[in-house]
Amino acid sequence: MTRSTYRFVDLTIRHVPEGGVIWETFCRTEGCGLDSGPCDSQEAAQDWALRHSGVTDHDLFKRVVTDNAEVMYAEDSVMEKDRDSLLRR
Ligand SMILES: [Zn+2]
Repeated sequence: MTRSTYRFVDLTIRHVPEGGVIWETFCRTEGCGLDSGPCDSQEAAQDWALRHSGVTDHDLFKRVVTDNAEVMYAEDSVMEKDRDSLLRR
């Protein structure tokens, strides 16, 4: 019989600034299917929607913000300690 020991640790998730943020706006008018494409700023994605609406009268949009996140132990010092102890088992 194999015995296993489990430990429960607190994890946290945070935005990774180096990964940047991407804004996109999608037209929701049926049959349109156009979108802003990935934009480096919220203003650029919104400006596309305003221009698109001005030309087409389409007025419903989906806005998507994408970022990168990293999961880590709640305390970095705990993480290093736990990693070391787990590797020794
Ligand atoms: Zn549209």
